[in-house]
Amino acid sequence: MAILVTGGAGYIGSHTCIQLLKENYEVVVLDNLSNSSPKALQRIEEITGKTVMFYQADLLDRQAVERVFEENNITGVLHFAGLKAVGESVEKPLYYYHNNITGTLILCETMRSCGVKTLVFSSSATVYGTPERVPISEEAPTGAANPYGRTKLMIEEILRDLHQADSDWRIALLRYFNPIGADESGRIGEDPTGLPNNLMPFITQVAVGKRDKLMVFGDDYDTPDGTGIRDYIHVTDLAEGHLKALEKIAAETGVKTYNLGTGFGYSVLDIVHAFLEATGVQVPYEITDRRPGDIASCYADPSLAEKELGWRAKKTIRDMCCDAWRWQQHNPNGYQ
Ligand code: NAD
Ligand code: UDP
Repeated sequence: MAILVTGGAGYIGSHTCIQLLKENYEVVVLDNLSNSSPKALQRIEEITGKTVMFYQADLLDRQAVERVFEENNITGVLHFAGLKAVGESVEKPLYYYHNNITGTLILCETMRSCGVKTLVFSSSATVYGTPERVPISEEAPTGAANPYGRTKLMIEEILRDLHQADSDWRIALLRYFNPIGADESGRIGEDPTGLPNNLMPFITQVAVGKRDKLMVFGDDYDTPDGTGIRDYIHVTDLAEGHLKALEKIAAETGVKTYNLGTGFGYSVLDIVHAFLEATGVQVPYEITDRRPGDIASCYADPSLAEKELGWRAKKTIRDMCCDAWRWQQHNPNGYQ
């Protein structure tokens, strides 16, 4: 009995593989390595002392996906594989729709034909668009602002329709807020290619001397210090949320939607200060223009996940900064 982790070599998938192995699940990873390194898988094995069955394959390759199911006794799927860069999705919408949506369709069709109907899907807080109010509960209106976000919303709808047509499906839609940090070993972490889009990898790259300074995208938002507020969550807490979701859907059919966030918002400058306190490293920054499409404030109401999954994020912002820094310091060039 194994769990298939699509995108398991990636940032969140690799951390979730560690939690699965620690809980004695058998793990099969399917990843085309388009945004990840096989070294992540080697290190997962080093950290846990357990093995991962790895298929370097594309979800768009139906035969390869079928082979994974034929060769393993898969009982459930954690579906992380997807493209995730908002800016790139605006430039290459068809590439994003094809990869994320067609890939999910092929996965679900294969699951159905093999009688595997347990699926946890990586959705995102981006499905809430510009929230009317914070904290954001799962009932808040949705409306994504870019092709990446629309792939998440469309896949959520597809999975709801799938359950509507066949109530045997057991599906969890996990809407992540802002995952940061790394495994406490410092051996695996976030390894963006090129210029990081996200705040924490940018901060750690400045701290390690790879970049001169952080550009803070706007200080004129309607927030206490004028910079954008987000709900940063430690990737290990997020990974644990997946195991809880898997347990929940093993116990009951249906489609469940959960926010995975901490419920606390931190501004960009809060993070810069927290990083200094946690690591002793001062990150120079400059205030620049707002980034198009950014919202002022976004943080979760995570109470549904606490009530129904018995899950809540435990790690502090200090833990997130220390762990992100340990990974960056020990691996200044990521997995290269
Ligand atoms: P990531 O890029 O590190 O991992 C995704 C993995 O999927 C990569 O290893 C990539 O090689 C693989 N992949 C992509 N397309 C594939 C395909 N067609 N076939 C096989 N493998 C494929 O990203 P991540 O940060 O770990 O994100 C995981 C999931 O969580 C994604 O679906 C992402 O959209 C979602 N998510 C991420 C964040 C975030 O801030 N990191 C926030 C919300 C949601
Ligand atoms: N941000 C920033 N400089 C950067 C990257 C991000 O000021 O180089 C800000 C961004 O405007 C937002 C916050 O940091 O307010 C989090 O950005 P990120 O891209 O990590 O997450 P998202 O905006 O997608 O939630």
